[in-house]
Amino acid sequence: MKTVINNVTVLTMDKAENVYKNGYVVIEGTKIAGVGEGTGPQDADQTVDGQGGILMPGMINTHSHISMIPFRSLGEDGKDRLRKLFFPLEREALTPELVRQGARYAVCELLLGGVTSVMDMYYFEDAVAQACDEMGIDAWTGQTIIEMETCDSRNAADALKLNEELIKKWKGHGRIHPVVAPHATNTNGPETLQAAYELAQKYDVPYTLHVCEMDYEMTMFREKYDKTPVEFLYGIGVLGPRTVAAHCIHLSDHDIELFAESGAKIAHCAIANAKSGKGVCRAYDAKQAGVTVGVGTDGPSSGNTIDLLTQLRIIPPLQKTRRHDNTIFSAKETAFMGTIEGAKVLGAQNEIGSIETGKRANLTLIETQSVNMFPIYEPYAAVVYMANPSNVDSVWVDGKQLVKGHKLLFADHLEERAKLEALMPEFRRMSANYRDF
Ligand SMILES: [Zn+2]
Repeated sequence: MKTVINNVTVLTMDKAENVYKNGYVVIEGTKIAGVGEGTGPQDADQTVDGQGGILMPGMINTHSHISMIPFRSLGEDGKDRLRKLFFPLEREALTPELVRQGARYAVCELLLGGVTSVMDMYYFEDAVAQACDEMGIDAWTGQTIIEMETCDSRNAADALKLNEELIKKWKGHGRIHPVVAPHATNTNGPETLQAAYELAQKYDVPYTLHVCEMDYEMTMFREKYDKTPVEFLYGIGVLGPRTVAAHCIHLSDHDIELFAESGAKIAHCAIANAKSGKGVCRAYDAKQAGVTVGVGTDGPSSGNTIDLLTQLRIIPPLQKTRRHDNTIFSAKETAFMGTIEGAKVLGAQNEIGSIETGKRANLTLIETQSVNMFPIYEPYAAVVYMANPSNVDSVWVDGKQLVKGHKLLFADHLEERAKLEALMPEFRRMSANYRDF
């Protein structure tokens, strides 16, 4: 099957930063078979008229807990939501069915928002992997390893076993990529963090955790180890090229040096961090130091949306405000963060993240007919500052079109919602116990 998409502005995000103002892209099977200026070859099985839209690589969400859809808008503005609401409610109310259906619903939102790849960490993660496989999205999935009893594990050792089973089951799948996911620096001791790292090394998969997100985490590490959490991770040997650290709100200059030296990556979750009043990650400083920084949303309960366009819009303003300098952090580099830099965070830059011949055909077409998309002098700025998820017209993953005309082709989000709602009465009843947490 050969498809040609014509009449589009192509933002390739390739190394030469090529932009084709009136361009085309050819898809053959699961791969990109050509890209350039003008009209594509005439011998295609299918020709798509992009109507002057912007065609870009599918966006990459480098940190989420997509199955937390049932928690969205619950306990907003409450103090210490994680420990007082989410942890106990997750332990009490989660089932594999709820996690799986929550993930299916979340993937509807990801795809409709132009996101083609997501890195996820949660409980019953095999159910998340199944849901992502069924829905056709590209997913990096890791079982939460945490030193406490949870809905699916008595302790961290049990969770490590579950994570290893997940890896054995999914390693080698084309779209589902298992990862190792120790929850955070402050919820696991050094032995668990190291055991998880050994597991990631054994199977050569990414290693992801939350890092320097909490004020109390910073105090705890200073008091207990006289180190920052990043210095601590470096010291126990788990900061390396396969490490994806989410949040990194509180980074010292030395921490940034350690990231650059070790090759560890950052998943920047701007909205979740700002909304919870925790602070703004020094993404600009880290990037200047040579650290790879991608974009994450965190769970749908933290930032409330899991698409990337909503995130991209706020990232430069926060960095410009931090430095009182509007000339830094361009729309262009922000768009790169949402695509090829995200691919580098996942270690998948040779497969996805840019529009180049031979790469997997993960593509997002943003239409420019809507009222908010005119005029466009600078397509990167249009993507970052003007577009919203409702402008996403079409999405392809592995060459298969999953969204067309703003609609999912192989699922119906209202049907998925009805199925999720049918599983939620018990969750709703239990959540009422935490109304005044
Ligand atoms: Zn998170």
